[in-house]
Amino acid sequence: MTNAETPKGFGLTIDFGAAAPAADPAVATSATAAAPTETRLLILGSGPAGLTAAIYAARAALAPIVIGGYAPGGQLMLTSEVENFPGFPDGIDGPELMAKMRAQAERFGSVMVDQDVDRVDLSAQPHRVWSAGREFRAEAIIIATGASALWLGLESETRLRGRGVSACATCDGFFFKGQEVVVVGGGDTALEEALFLTRFATKVHLVHRRETFRASKIMISRVEAHANIELHMNREVVEVLGEKSTEAVMLRDTTPGATGAPERLAAGGLFVAIGYKPNTAMLGGALPVDAAGYLQLESETSASQIDGVFIAGDVHDHRYRQAITAAGDGCRAALDAERWLAERDASKS
Ligand code: NAP
Repeated sequence: MTNAETPKGFGLTIDFGAAAPAADPAVATSATAAAPTETRLLILGSGPAGLTAAIYAARAALAPIVIGGYAPGGQLMLTSEVENFPGFPDGIDGPELMAKMRAQAERFGSVMVDQDVDRVDLSAQPHRVWSAGREFRAEAIIIATGASALWLGLESETRLRGRGVSACATCDGFFFKGQEVVVVGGGDTALEEALFLTRFATKVHLVHRRETFRASKIMISRVEAHANIELHMNREVVEVLGEKSTEAVMLRDTTPGATGAPERLAAGGLFVAIGYKPNTAMLGGALPVDAAGYLQLESETSASQIDGVFIAGDVHDHRYRQAITAAGDGCRAALDAERWLAERDASKS
């Protein structure tokens, strides 16, 4: 494993886990050093929402600056193959799709800054955003910072993160060649990760706390049909065992009334795939969030409660959370921002 720390990068729809694909330093440095700091429209995040917003805004001659995180590109950077993004009948690798979106945004004049946002001040015009020691100013802002992977919250999970415990099969799967691994979760992410890991692991143990999966039917049938995936339903991981690296997990039976002691399951890796939390920390509470921490829209548009601030993608969407819905959201936010700026111009003249 190359990196034990989870990077701060946002614009991600999931956490980069143990081995983040760092932004190319040469690209990041040149783009960042040359970037202007004043613009009409600033876009925070570089997943499908942020980059689609950038494509639309750039084509509207707004020359947006996209502050896209140290590890730009969002969740699709961690996905092996995307089969459901329209226009790619044979599927496309996630990173390749994001590279195409980025190139498309840059072609029309978007400026990319591959750094994290540290904090914002949205209380007055122009809105201000601080990133890597620089202050950016803009009349309008689109927040498309995505969401990050959730962890189980076990002390042993934290201790062994980067030493067998990961939230990213695409990043770390290769390191588990010839070993048995555990994947936790019952949604599409967990099942997708389990299938992906069969490329490397001799056996994948899929652990889910309930009797039924939440994932889509097609993913369930693929997992159930796979000879190297063993299902452990009604089980939860209560501890990860190992000193220097992961050696096993302890599984508790969650069936109502079950009283047996947790059982040991030997595995060299634990992949946690139990959902996400929205990336809003850098906003410092400037915008209201719901009980799960997602930003809330002001109306049926992408407008937030603050004039000139718009919201797009997984940072507010806990229902659909697809690359294509995030991209659609980015389009809406760019159109809303463009109209808002035009009205502002008209009111000044
Ligand atoms: P999700 O649908 O929210 O599923 C999270 C899973 O983790 C659930 O099965 C949940 O169990 C389990 N879980 C949550 N907290 C847990 C805990 N503390 N301990 C053990 N298990 C826990 O999240 P997701 O799978 O990441 O998917 C998110 C969205 O992205 C979905 O809309 C999904 O369709 C989409 N997605 C789509 C694709 C694709 O189309 N290719 C791929 C990946 C994701 P319960 O079921 O008991 O709640």
